Amino acid sequence: VGFMIEPIQRLTHMSTQLQEGVTGFQRFMEIMNLKPSIVDKPDALTIPKVRGEIAFKDVSFRYEDHLDRVLTHLSLHIRPGEYVALVGPSGAGKTTLCSLIPRFYEVTDGEVLVDGINVRDLDLRSLRNQIGIVQQDVYLFAGTVIENIRYGNPEATDEQVIEAAKHANAHDFIMNLPNGYRSDIGQRGVKLSGGQKQRLSIARVFLKNPPVLIFDEATSALDNESESIVKDSLEALAKGRTTIVIAHRLSTIRHAERIIVLTEDGVAEQGAHEALLARDGMYARLYAKQFEWQTS
Ligand code: ADP
Ligand code: MG
Repeated sequence: VGFMIEPIQRLTHMSTQLQEGVTGFQRFMEIMNLKPSIVDKPDALTIPKVRGEIAFKDVSFRYEDHLDRVLTHLSLHIRPGEYVALVGPSGAGKTTLCSLIPRFYEVTDGEVLVDGINVRDLDLRSLRNQIGIVQQDVYLFAGTVIENIRYGNPEATDEQVIEAAKHANAHDFIMNLPNGYRSDIGQRGVKLSGGQKQRLSIARVFLKNPPVLIFDEATSALDNESESIVKDSLEALAKGRTTIVIAHRLSTIRHAERIIVLTEDGVAEQGAHEALLARDGMYARLYAKQFEWQTS
């Protein structure tokens, strides 16, 4: 089995871990009987719902067994309820930065704080309950639609599941499946499009109802039409929550309250779309390049 561990860990990093966060990752670790390296402190704090303030204080990070630092002395403050976009070249560390909030990895130096509390001091389950993650790869398991959505909150009633699906713009397509919410979406079940899977994962997060959201390239694999439906669902989900959006297509994050440009050297610049364009720096260049590319 030894030779399989590495790819499995990579796979875990890529999809399961950032997926449902949390429950998915913990279950995966249990199934694989892997001992997690990140565990609760003996006196870990359990917290009720946070307001959603997030702070990175002088954070440096490198992956274990890797020499290069991915993040170096990075500081950022995100207000409760703020809508922030994270952009920058591939490999700049955007996904890594976000994975430090639910403490999928331990910082090498510095601190990550949620509502002023160091994530290291928090009970992991209690911390991860605060965070909803939607990313490109959706993790669905063999079972029915309703089971897959209920994964976001196993205690939810059927009515609550349906309510969540409506919020996620998923109810109508679900009702059009042969067995509605009881349709099987396993290997021998119905085939769903990328956008439909994405909306199921958004419905899950609605059910979970966390104060903090991370969208990691959630719509980057979708065609234009599904992208616009999924975007509407994501916008609805983001209301009243602290939201960090990592986006490839800059057109999707123009309205963010703050855009943070991350490069391998750290935060290059930050501000609202118009201000960054006026600054005529890195963001303006990225934007012009994409615009050119999209219209040609
Ligand atoms: P981005 O999301 O901005 O594209 P990432 O956070 O995925 O960037 O990656 C930042 C750097 O860390 C890259 O050099 C990448 O190769 C490396 N990296 C990402 N995940 C891992 C991992 N699990 N182990 C080792 N290195 C990794
Ligand atoms: Mg990434």
